[in-house]
Amino acid sequence: MAEEAEFKCLRCGHEFIAPYDKENPQEHTCPKCRSNSVRRIKT
Ligand SMILES: [Zn+2]
Repeated sequence: MAEEAEFKCLRCGHEFIAPYDKENPQEHTCPKCRSNSVRRIKT
């Protein structure tokens, strides 16, 4: 079951919400700069 999580791009600093499936983690891409250097922000 996917939940939404907050992510931050390490390249441009853009923050965004994306679905996050903890049983099947996927690589995320920054919607702004297309970098895949994206970290999940723990809230
Ligand atoms: Zn970015």
